[in-house]
Amino acid sequence: MNVKCISDNLLCAGCGACNAICTRGAISMKRTATMGLLYACVDDIKCIDCGLCLKVCPSVNILERKSEVAKEDIVGDIKSCYVGRSLNPDIFKNAQSGGLVTQILSYLFDENLIDAVISCRMIFGRGVPNVSYNILTSKEELHLNQKSCYTQVDVVSALKETNSYRSVARVGLPCQIQGVAKLSELKKCKNITYKIGLVCDKTYSNTYMNAIMNNSYQKEDVLIKYRQKDFTFRDVYYSYQKAPTVICGKEGVLSIIPNRKRMFLKEFFTVPKCRLCADKLNVYADIVLGDPWGMKDKYDQNQGDSLILVRTEKGISILNELVKDSLVSVVRADVEEVVRGQFIKERVNDIHLLDWNEKKRIWMRHEGMSKSQIVQLVNKKYKKGLFKSFMGDLLIRIKKIFK
Ligand SMILES: Cc1cc2nc3c(=O)[nH]c(=O)nc-3n(C[C@H](O)[C@H](O)[C@H](O)COP(=O)(O)OP(=O)(O)OC[C@H]3O[C@@H](n4cnc5c(N)ncnc54)[C@H](O)[C@@H]3O)c2cc1C
Ligand code: SF4
Ligand code: SF4
Ligand code: SF4
Repeated sequence: MNVKCISDNLLCAGCGACNAICTRGAISMKRTATMGLLYACVDDIKCIDCGLCLKVCPSVNILERKSEVAKEDIVGDIKSCYVGRSLNPDIFKNAQSGGLVTQILSYLFDENLIDAVISCRMIFGRGVPNVSYNILTSKEELHLNQKSCYTQVDVVSALKETNSYRSVARVGLPCQIQGVAKLSELKKCKNITYKIGLVCDKTYSNTYMNAIMNNSYQKEDVLIKYRQKDFTFRDVYYSYQKAPTVICGKEGVLSIIPNRKRMFLKEFFTVPKCRLCADKLNVYADIVLGDPWGMKDKYDQNQGDSLILVRTEKGISILNELVKDSLVSVVRADVEEVVRGQFIKERVNDIHLLDWNEKKRIWMRHEGMSKSQIVQLVNKKYKKGLFKSFMGDLLIRIKKIFK
């Protein structure tokens, strides 16, 4: 048995752990033609049926475990919890949230505790940006990888290229960090010394990027900044709290995509497996970074801050050193605030109530269309929704006038 059964059942998240462990080169990461879903593709001729790929796959038995998911599994073991930010102005300004990920990596390089980082980056691409994993070997490169990529990246595949490094820090979403943890259990990749986790509320397949821009920039090199914080465009100020998605060309901002469109498209392009995923808070990481949602009294609503969950002794030691060296500022927070702010109980309910066969059916129907058809369809539905809510608002106003 190999991970073909995972991919064929739409349960692959595209993390790349199977690709990293397969010694026969039987696995390659591919994307489906219409939705752009990243998945592990197995070459049956090369596969020797060793079963290793299934041992590291975070999706094994996920459907069977669906009804048992509980709040405690998602929260895991949290030693301490904070809201904070990097005190380096360059890191902070260029960050998705409070810049904690990049500040931690910068500290690890400075102290010679690591000689490489595996993370990912978005770069300009014709029509849609290119998103891929990469290996950084100096702190000067870290700024190039700042900000979140919301579409799938097989970051764990990079482990095939990092054997020659002494000590490697991995930045990853929960499924990616799970893959690394499972590889470590099998005594592989012993040089992965730090697991820096991100909070994750699902990723999207690649065609999400075409849809969010409605294929408007096919002849241009573009970049997408999801939730760009604290900036002004055409005399309008956008805070961290209300940060929109920004489409950039090489000369600067091309357009602003309102958050309601980003949220509307989630329904169509959320990776199917993500709907079953219970590891939102990255339980296998040493330290986890996210946004401090739900803690309005603890973060700066214009410039943003980071949520920090410390999970291991390594995590405690990193944070203590950052505070001692005045590299970050932090304030204590409570785990229950995180549970509320990150909608953990709602996540449990969603997983329990998910009609997997129905979601699979809809996904396969969309895969049966062409890419331009699906982009047109979702944009038409979005405009229809906007029109309906506009008419609804108008009716309410008219009723008020005649009351
Ligand atoms: C798909 C996704 C969903 C998320 N959902 C939530 C959420 O629901 N709630 C919440 O609180 N936070 C969520 N986050 C985390 C949040 O967006 C920030 O990534 C986090 O707060 C770190 O910000 P920072 O300022 O410390 O990082 P920065 O200094 O901006 O650095 C970001 C780091 O993350 C790495 N990175 C970016 N995208 C990916 C990716 N796809 N896979 C692996 N590494 C990546 C970059 O390479 C870089 O090293 C999500 C992130 C992602 C990528
Ligand atoms: S079963 Fe073994 S050889 Fe086959 S794809 Fe999986 S890891 Fe590779
Ligand atoms: S290990 Fe990751 S990439 Fe491979 S099949 Fe499982 S989820 Fe997909
Ligand atoms: S929701 Fe789960 S499976 Fe999906 S990207 Fe996030 S961690 Fe991975």
